[in-house]
Amino acid sequence: MKAVRFSEFGGPEVLRYEDVPVPEPGSGEVRVKLAASGVNFIDVYQRTGLYPGELPRTLGNEGAGEVEAVGEGVEEFSEGDFVAFAGVPGAYAEHIVAPAEKLVPFNVTYVEARMAAAVMLQGMTAHYLTHSTFPLQEGQTALVHAAAGGVGLLLCQLAKMRGATVIGTVSTEEKAELARGAGADEVILYTQHDFVEETRRITGGEGVDVVYDSVGKTTFDGSLDSLKPRGYLVLFGASSGPVPPVDLQVLNQKGGLFVTRPSLAHYTATREELLWRAESLFTWIGQNNLSVRIGGAYKLSEADQAHRDLEGRKTTGKLILLP
Ligand code: NDP
Repeated sequence: MKAVRFSEFGGPEVLRYEDVPVPEPGSGEVRVKLAASGVNFIDVYQRTGLYPGELPRTLGNEGAGEVEAVGEGVEEFSEGDFVAFAGVPGAYAEHIVAPAEKLVPFNVTYVEARMAAAVMLQGMTAHYLTHSTFPLQEGQTALVHAAAGGVGLLLCQLAKMRGATVIGTVSTEEKAELARGAGADEVILYTQHDFVEETRRITGGEGVDVVYDSVGKTTFDGSLDSLKPRGYLVLFGASSGPVPPVDLQVLNQKGGLFVTRPSLAHYTATREELLWRAESLFTWIGQNNLSVRIGGAYKLSEADQAHRDLEGRKTTGKLILLP
C-alpha cells in the first residue's frame, strides 16, 4: 500500500510517498481501509520535530473508512462497518491498524466518510473547548483567533450554539466572510487592526470572558489584554510558533486571569467522553446543524503541498487527503 512517510525532521520536502506492507491487526485492533485522512497542524509539529517522535514513520493522526479486518477479541466492530478516529498515528496511508477503543462508528447514510474524517480532530477540539475547558454560557463573549481555520469555523459554530457572542480574528476579507458565515458576530482583520483595541471597542471597554487562542506566539500577549478581569485564556495551539515562558505575576497584574493549555487527549481520556464528543458532532452534521467546510482535498501523494498551503496561511476550513 501507499503511505506518506518521513525519516528526518524538516520542511514539507521530507515527506515521501512510499510503498509499505499492509499492516495486520493484532489483539484488540482493527484494520481500516481509509476513505480520507485529515490534515492537522499537529502533523506539521510532528514533521518539523517540534513534537518529537521516532523515525522513520508514517505521518497523520486522523481518518475515516471501512473496517476490513478485526483482530482477536474485538467485538464492537466487524467487516464493513464505517469508523472514524483521531489521535491514531499513521493515518497518511491507504490502510491503518488502530486500537478498537479509539474508533467511533458512524452511519454513512447521514455522514459521508470524508466528512467524518474531516470533523474528528478539529470538531472534537471545538467541542471540548466550548463544552468542557470553558463551558460557554448564554450571554458570554468569546474571542476566537484564526476563525476561518479548520478548528476556527467549527469553534464559531459551537460557541454560537451555546448562546455566546463571538468575535473572530482572521487575516483576509475572504476569511472574514467565512467566519461571519459560521456565526461570528464581529470579525477583526488582525493583520490590519490591533485586535486588542478592536475587542475593547466591541465590548464597550469590558473585554471578553474567554479567548480561544490557537495562534500562540504572535497573539498570546494581546489575548491576555483582551480579557475581562478573571477571564480565561485557553491557549490550544502554536500556529505562529510556541509562546515563550511567562511570568505568572502578569496574570495578577492583568486582573486575576486564568490560563490553560489543553490537548484533545486530555478531553477524550475515556471511551464515554470520546463517543459523547464524536457522536454529538455526527448528530449535528446529520441534522444540518453543523457545517464542515472542506477547504481543500488533496491526493495522498500531495500531502507535502497540503502542508505548504496550511503553513502558508492559504487555507480555510479543513484539508483532507484522498487515497
Ligand atoms: P488552521 O486551519 O487554523 O490553520 C492555521 C491558521 O492560523 C492559519 O490559516 C492562519 O489563519 C492562522 N495563523 C496565524 N499566524 C500564523 C502563522 N504565522 N503561520 C501559520 N498560520 C497562522 O489549522 P488547524 O485548524 O488545523 O489548527 C489550528 C490550531 O489549533 C493549531 O495551532 C493546532 O495546533 C491547534 N489545535 C490544537 C488542538 C488541541 O487539542 N490542543 C487540537 C487541534 C488543533 P489567518 O490567516 O486567519 O491568520
